[in-house]
Amino acid sequence: MTLSPQEKQTILKSIREIPDFPKAGIIFKDITTLLSDPNALNTLMSHLQARYENYNLDYIAGIDARGFIFGAILADRLGVGFVPVRKKGKLPYTTVAEKYSLEYGFDEVEVHIDAFGEGGCCSSGTPARVLLIDDLIATGGTAKAAANLIDRVGATCVEACFIMELSFLHGKEGINTPIYSVLEID
Ligand code: AMP
Repeated sequence: MTLSPQEKQTILKSIREIPDFPKAGIIFKDITTLLSDPNALNTLMSHLQARYENYNLDYIAGIDARGFIFGAILADRLGVGFVPVRKKGKLPYTTVAEKYSLEYGFDEVEVHIDAFGEGGCCSSGTPARVLLIDDLIATGGTAKAAANLIDRVGATCVEACFIMELSFLHGKEGINTPIYSVLEID
């Protein structure tokens, strides 16, 4: 279940760094090069499959937009449902929304009110067990809002998983759910 140093290197090396994108001072972690590298993608997804196989998950919730890719692959591998946590205004049915602050201003994410079943419950009547996933956690604002949404619709966020964590930003500190990051970047 633990990644070997060599496997970590395979994944890390496949992620391209773009300085000053989308603005000066940001080093953008570009996962398109991870997605196009079948060995790196398979190493990553096999690791996540092994980690979450025994979590008794009902759903994977992926954050707009890169979380959709990893989340949907993992959901299919685990045989569970996939739920998109979308940016405001994209989902067609009744939604629940959560605002969060950006460096300048606000953004908002939302899910369908019945995304994890009626009242967030499985057919057995117990709250659905949900894994939240995204490519990267920076300040943690997006992940915190998404985890709150899962709770607000009545489901349980059992863990939030990221391919990368920018640990110097301490983003996981305000999030009230266990966090797992494949790569911690100082
Ligand atoms: P935050 O809410 O600050 O934790 O930001 C996380 C979201 O912004 C994730 O959906 C990431 O995909 C994206 N993001 C933030 N910083 C970066 C970065 N340096 N490289 C790539 N994506 C980033």
